[in-house]
Amino acid sequence: MPTEKETILITAALPYINNVPHLGHIVGSHLPADIFYRFCRAKGHDVTFIGGSDEHGTPSVIAAQELGIPVKQLTDRLHAIHKNVYKKLNISYTNYSRTSKSIHHEVTKDFFKVIDAKGVYLHREELKMYFCQRDSLFLPDRFVIGTCPTCGYTSAYADQCETCSTVINPGELIDARCRICGEIPTYKLSPHLFLDLEKLSKKIDAWVESKKGIWNNHVYSIAKKWIDDGLKPRSITRDLTWGVSVPVPEFKNKVFYVWFDAPIGYITFTKELGNQYYERYWKNTKSKIFHFLGKDNIPFHTIFWPGMLIAHGGYSMPYKIVGFHYLNYEGKKFSKSKGVGVFCYNILNSDINIDTLRAYLTSVIPETKDSLFQWNEYRLHTNSEVIGKIGNFFNRTLNVIWNNFNGSLGIDAEQLTNNDELDRNLISSIKTTPEEIGKLLFKTEFRAAYQKMLDYAREGNVYLDRKEPWSLVKKGDLESAKKVLYITLNLAKSLAIVLSPIMPTGMQELWNNQLNFSGSLDTPEIWEKASKMDISKGHRIHKPKPLYEKIEIEKLEEIKKELTKPYNLNDLVKE
Ligand SMILES: [Zn+2]
Ligand SMILES: [Zn+2]
Repeated sequence: MPTEKETILITAALPYINNVPHLGHIVGSHLPADIFYRFCRAKGHDVTFIGGSDEHGTPSVIAAQELGIPVKQLTDRLHAIHKNVYKKLNISYTNYSRTSKSIHHEVTKDFFKVIDAKGVYLHREELKMYFCQRDSLFLPDRFVIGTCPTCGYTSAYADQCETCSTVINPGELIDARCRICGEIPTYKLSPHLFLDLEKLSKKIDAWVESKKGIWNNHVYSIAKKWIDDGLKPRSITRDLTWGVSVPVPEFKNKVFYVWFDAPIGYITFTKELGNQYYERYWKNTKSKIFHFLGKDNIPFHTIFWPGMLIAHGGYSMPYKIVGFHYLNYEGKKFSKSKGVGVFCYNILNSDINIDTLRAYLTSVIPETKDSLFQWNEYRLHTNSEVIGKIGNFFNRTLNVIWNNFNGSLGIDAEQLTNNDELDRNLISSIKTTPEEIGKLLFKTEFRAAYQKMLDYAREGNVYLDRKEPWSLVKKGDLESAKKVLYITLNLAKSLAIVLSPIMPTGMQELWNNQLNFSGSLDTPEIWEKASKMDISKGHRIHKPKPLYEKIEIEKLEEIKKELTKPYNLNDLVKE
């Protein structure tokens, strides 16, 4: 049955550009989004994958200030690093852009003007803001530091303590001081714009309710808890100069709060591809928008962003918020400031095999709870699953064909007569398993889908063990050997297709250079071929060779040392 073609836009959370990405970010959005994108394309859906650097806000301003460089220089350099890291990891964005582009400023202002013109969901309010007399500057968010009232941490931000995660309300910070000059700040009244989430609450709730059963439970529950706790109007402006300026005369010295402009980036970066993309995904009630993101981003994408979209009223609403839990590192939290974790900048100069890394990471995607990255597990997974199950199956099948039949079996499916139960079971598995894997992938259950791929390879190995085509050859029963190998060769073809969203490089190499099929595994609708026994009579394979290398302990130590090497942000951005 042909699949119904869907119109699907995939986004991965926009990484904040005040540092380099770490593996937690990769596993919590970019990688699953990429696997999903590759799968949807293979199924023949109309699909586009967008992302970009989130450059505005106080953290990048402060990071630049501390390094003594213009903020634009910092974000230019870090944007380039982010883009290269995703490329190296084979994250195949259709468009990876950035929020500092002028088109994004225009799209954001237009978005705001539509809400403003309705006169319903925005209001103005005077706020008592921190102000530094010496710098004659308002001090938003992270420009004020002091002692956390909860845990006593002495470098807590005015809005949140990074040590104990407590949200700090205005006035609660002890010994507040200006981050730039150290002076004790005063307060000054400043008018700000608010999006009235309270007024939007019923509509947001109805929308969240309509997602029950589509979203994972934890995503739905987090959204419901926020709504049940009561939504409050939220300020969308900041007293800063770095950002998208507010197109209202009375706010000319302010910019939009970074959380207001960042998600509009999803629209901008689609529009950058051309108006037909913009219309197809954002102005089409039938399009399905999937947002991939980490746990900390769930409230934002289930409450605030949909609230903005409802207030605007002219864009498609997201279809599914795919929220992940956290990936911990060897039992600790990834932390750039504490130097814990894998810093993806180092990946740029590393010879680590990207396919095997992606495969291991897929096996630990934190779908239902926090999960753990462990170096030795990476080694074991590569050796026993990727090589032991998948690689082993390909090698055994292709080597027997290459060594005994000069690479060509000379039969096709019509010669598969007198099949026994083992044959029939494997043939039936080839017909049904790709579809089952596809269903799991479409439900964004990546770990279960990957497990099924491994089981699929294992089925092939068990079949070979039982049939022993190499013994059939020795006994001179070439016809029986060919039948067995014809079935496993079709399974090899099927596996290459279903594994390619996770291990794109190795599977493409196998496809062209060993299985000897032409074309790319990126071809739309190629998934259908995964359930067909259709290799032609005259087909000849090329000389097989192992796709992946085993990782010995010494090699692992080398990789680990390379990837955990501390770096100095200063060196990266001044290079
Ligand atoms: Zn604290
Ligand atoms: Zn100051």
